[in-house]
Amino acid sequence: MSARKQKNRIELFKREIHLPDCQPDKNGKPVALVYPDSYEVGMSSLGYLTVYRYFVEAGFKPERFFFNIRNSNNVPISIETATTLKKLQTIAFHFSFELDYINALKMLIDSGIETSRKKREKSGGHYLIAGGIASTANPLPLIKFMDAVFIGELESEYVNQIENACFDGDTPWFVSKEFEDSNGDYKVRQNQNNNWASSSSFSPIITPLSVFSMANLIEIIRGCPVKCKFCLAGNIRQKISERSLNLILEDAFRHENESKKIGLIGAIPSLHSSIMPLLENLIDKGMKPSLSALSVNSLKSPLLDLLAKGGMKTLTLGVETFDETVQRSVGKIIKLDGLLNRVEYALKSGMREIKLYLMLGLPDAADNEESLLIERALEINKIAQGARPGSRTTISLNPFIPKIATPYERKSFMGEKTFRKKVRMIRTQLAKEGINVISESHRGSFIQNLISCGDEVIGDIILRLAIGDSINQLRNSLPDDLDAYLKETASKVSKTILRN
Ligand code: SF4
Repeated sequence: MSARKQKNRIELFKREIHLPDCQPDKNGKPVALVYPDSYEVGMSSLGYLTVYRYFVEAGFKPERFFFNIRNSNNVPISIETATTLKKLQTIAFHFSFELDYINALKMLIDSGIETSRKKREKSGGHYLIAGGIASTANPLPLIKFMDAVFIGELESEYVNQIENACFDGDTPWFVSKEFEDSNGDYKVRQNQNNNWASSSSFSPIITPLSVFSMANLIEIIRGCPVKCKFCLAGNIRQKISERSLNLILEDAFRHENESKKIGLIGAIPSLHSSIMPLLENLIDKGMKPSLSALSVNSLKSPLLDLLAKGGMKTLTLGVETFDETVQRSVGKIIKLDGLLNRVEYALKSGMREIKLYLMLGLPDAADNEESLLIERALEINKIAQGARPGSRTTISLNPFIPKIATPYERKSFMGEKTFRKKVRMIRTQLAKEGINVISESHRGSFIQNLISCGDEVIGDIILRLAIGDSINQLRNSLPDDLDAYLKETASKVSKTILRN
């Protein structure tokens, strides 16, 4: 291992603060917990950190792996002991995002581990399990690789059963709740953790080197009442649950001696029924809370005052579209007056930047949707400059990506040329007024769409991307009628998994 990489790993480990009551048993059974993205991103995922905590509480000795922590031979190594994946029999992956599947396979290949489940079975090789929102939404692209996929929200009671996942013929799923429906068809019920609201939520490890540097992350609300038709996070769980004020406050002070930063997590944490008393309590006690997301309609003036007082400098809002017809179809109505008013208030309260997320190509959007977007963005920037001269306005553009397990799973994805043309026009027009425009890559979004709505066929594409082929090289390997194929797969998944 090169001195630099070794130092990196040791440095990262040294700078972490582990809660004393969440320390792995030195004699526990080792298990690899893989977050197939960078250390900075993985250590900011409360889902991943919670899986780590459950494994520790169940008596395991987890070894954490991230895509960018490797030895001099480019082999992924664990943060804890620099061991390699190959040396650990059980390897559990946490998938928050579809593109991480490609990284996961790259990590296996770089570790010298057979990716094919069937070939591994023959040689008695490693045991691979996947979990997380992306694989819960659609496990089919992973079937050729994983021995088991946990469908739904993990609970501590399942951790000990993970290695005993049962197999049903060719189906490698961890069928915690399998059943036959009235037609005799085999199904899996997506697990919902009904004890979540009464259990603890916190970061067992904090580090200055995560995206939310030194923040103790606490999930305060699960599910989203808005349920925008394109949004996976808002639709994967129907029931809305929230944790009580007392329980959240108890968890908020676990790392109080090391850091005052608290990250309140949820689809939209500002929709928690006690958000105001919660923020007041935390700020009164010297803590620095921030919210993972905000919705325009829940942003009352006192909440903006508190957020500005807590040090928030950028107001980030998911607006998605300014077109009222599209807003009505999507189910997310944001009145322009209300938005302008919130922007003005936030900047007068002390914030310095407005960042708006918008989508192009949503179902029912007009062909010239960019014209209205440009008009509205200019209007917002004018209000922003009036409220705080020199403030920054940023527009983040994404193509709409049809995602499985959402009401828009069978809608079509915008072509690359159209997306690029629209982005170019928006960028040119808004640059004249100093508005910053950033956009997602169309190719990355296209791959996300394939993985989200595909099946085993896309599994082969993921493997080739992991080996190093580009998506352009693979276009000929895609099904001829891609739209029809993706729609068919969507019904295959919905016939197999019973959502809550
Ligand atoms: S986009 Fe935001 S508001 Fe809409 S369902 Fe998703 S989390 Fe909720």
